[in-house]
Amino acid sequence: MAKTVVFPDSEPLKDALSAGTQGKKNGSGKRPDYRAQALRLRPQRQALPIYSARSAIIKSITENPTVVIVGETGSGKTTQIPQYLLESGITAGGKTAIAVTQPRRVAATSIAKRVAEEVGTPLGGRVGYTIRFEDCSSDATQLRFCTDGLLLREILADPLLRRYSVVVLDEAHERTLRTDILLGMLKDIQRERTRVAQLNRDAEQTSEEPKGYAPDHRSRGTHVKFDEPEEDEKNDDAVAPVMDEVHGDVSGLDDLHIVVMSATLDAERFSEYFDKAPILYVAGRQFPVTTYYTSEPQSDYLDAAHLATLQIHTDTPSDSGDVLVFLSGQEDIENVERLLLDSAANLPKGVPNLLPCPIFAALPQAQQSRVFDPAPEFTRKVILATNIAETSLTIPGIRHVIDSGVHKVRGFDPRVGESLLVEPISKSSARQRTGRAGREAAGFCYRLYTEADYAQLPEDSIPEIKRCQLSMVVLQLKASGVKDVMKFDFMDRPSRKALKHALLELYALDALDDTGELTPLGKWMAEFPLEPTYAKVIYASAAAGCTREAIDIVSLLSVDSLFYVPADKREESNAAQMAFRSADGDHLTYLNLLRAFNKVNGDSVWCQEHFVNRRNVRHVLDVRQQLNRLCARLGMDIERSCGTDLTSVLRCFLAGFFHNCAMLQPDGTYRSLNGSQVVNIHPASSLFGKKTPAIFYDQLVFTNKLHARAVSAVDSAWIAQAAPKLYGRLQSNSSAYTS
Ligand code: ADP
Ligand code: MG
Repeated sequence: MAKTVVFPDSEPLKDALSAGTQGKKNGSGKRPDYRAQALRLRPQRQALPIYSARSAIIKSITENPTVVIVGETGSGKTTQIPQYLLESGITAGGKTAIAVTQPRRVAATSIAKRVAEEVGTPLGGRVGYTIRFEDCSSDATQLRFCTDGLLLREILADPLLRRYSVVVLDEAHERTLRTDILLGMLKDIQRERTRVAQLNRDAEQTSEEPKGYAPDHRSRGTHVKFDEPEEDEKNDDAVAPVMDEVHGDVSGLDDLHIVVMSATLDAERFSEYFDKAPILYVAGRQFPVTTYYTSEPQSDYLDAAHLATLQIHTDTPSDSGDVLVFLSGQEDIENVERLLLDSAANLPKGVPNLLPCPIFAALPQAQQSRVFDPAPEFTRKVILATNIAETSLTIPGIRHVIDSGVHKVRGFDPRVGESLLVEPISKSSARQRTGRAGREAAGFCYRLYTEADYAQLPEDSIPEIKRCQLSMVVLQLKASGVKDVMKFDFMDRPSRKALKHALLELYALDALDDTGELTPLGKWMAEFPLEPTYAKVIYASAAAGCTREAIDIVSLLSVDSLFYVPADKREESNAAQMAFRSADGDHLTYLNLLRAFNKVNGDSVWCQEHFVNRRNVRHVLDVRQQLNRLCARLGMDIERSCGTDLTSVLRCFLAGFFHNCAMLQPDGTYRSLNGSQVVNIHPASSLFGKKTPAIFYDQLVFTNKLHARAVSAVDSAWIAQAAPKLYGRLQSNSSAYTS
């Protein structure tokens, strides 16, 4: 069966490439001599296109509050600009630091590692990184790479980010939820820092004691009721101690510089947002990448990706570079990985080996970093990635890119909830993906769509903040002191309706009080890197004595699927899952699975026999460990278990999920309690086909109809108790809640 994907203009897939690359494969394990290493890397640094702009960049950043820098992928923005700033002395002899944010953990760690090498310091010394639950930095760290989520957390503790003189927002074009919140918060912080710095300078000039720091909380600080017009509160009488209380010690505090970096040409918008900040364009020195389109639209892009990979592998010499395939998500990646492993086992003699290397956000970190390891002898790496590898990451050795043309994005409808959708990418994403083939030498990009389809793609993607549930955002903003989120200066404003929905949800969860002010519980919930509903469940578990189980189940719900259901082994898989089934539904079924998994220590043969997705359960353990640490820090007894009385765990879930309940109707359908939507129990659920009077679910997903995922049976009286204001009149459906 000689199926192929046709790229009509592709030379390399007909004629083997003549030139091989010098794929860097130095895996010697010698201890590095930091200085020597930095010296060795210096010529590479100086050869980067950005090097000639070094002084112009330093000058512009030191002279302006905000600068927007645009440069082609590979020009050296991420690795060089932070170093230029370090060399410029902007950190006042190490008294302050520079923060560089990345949308993803793996980018923050891998870039920090590279930059530490270039600077010639051990990682965690002058150059370090901090990501959630992992701090590789010290008091000596002047250049800190971190995720944007982490910097947001720092703002909670230090509202003026006093320790930083510069914040570099990298990959801003990705417009992730957190990047967007950070943009707004930083703008606000910068304004306040400018004001404080000016007061400090004035005080110094008149050589008086510092005085008169008047907090100007236009959007930060104290609280305001929903929908109430913002008071113009200028408190001219405030004195320094007031400021100290709100912001900490501000004596000697200087301006905050912001650098926004992006690989695409959306610079005008960033500049506009930051009061017409200057834009610097850095010319790239991208190696040429030849792009090919398919002649026909592909009905199955997974199949096409698999075939195109094999074509590249068999038609070009293996030393002509590795392959990077862009797919939409974990499921796609695992499917193509399986197809490739099958094909790899049956390659003709003499053809080099093929090594698929997946990388996606939910993959445990240790496995993510495997993509950076050089391939073994006589082997070609095929990296299967989500858009995690679209920018920021430099994976050495890539010369061929296959672009499926799709990605997974969040979608939100207040009536239905949030869902994940596979959608076509934007032109700017397509160009980014293509660029990954030309980082080290000339390369090739195979687009699994036609040129006509490319022409139809939107120029840019819609920012995540406009298409997702906002409860977590609003909680974060409130916890950071933003009093009126309706008036928060978003770069792209989410709809009023979505913001209102989030405020009401937080109110129902007791995170906000009647006046819209954050409650102590809300503050507590904001500590969690989770949707507020889950934080509420964990909170409720303390009183119910089942914190162990609550943390376990919340962790279990963080992955898409715990079981493998291969299309050709559906029945076997279902039968194997029966071993873990709880009559109460999926939440306790998952818990049973986790307990069994732990008992056998995650044994891989056991996982195979039980169709358990080992990789995902290991991710669950990772999340669980993180939550354990956080809860312990907050003083919870994380080992407090309810033993076999598992109904108390389900009741805890209702403390967060009372909105996600549905009742069985006389006609056999389920209707949601809040929106009266018809919801269907997902076929993968253990309650599928059962007639359970009342249920709650983790989420609704829209496939061909509205499906409830992760469903459990409850007594409706529990719902009434969990949300008396909303559902107080519900009668108990007695103990016969399962059948
Ligand atoms: P940009 O942010 O403009 O896309 P980077 O600063 O990330 O560019 O990278 C510039 C160049 O530095 C890359 O093209 C590559 O040659 C080199 N480089 C960056 N990171 C690494 C790394 N981890 N290993 C090897 N080379 C790297
Ligand atoms: Mg970069």
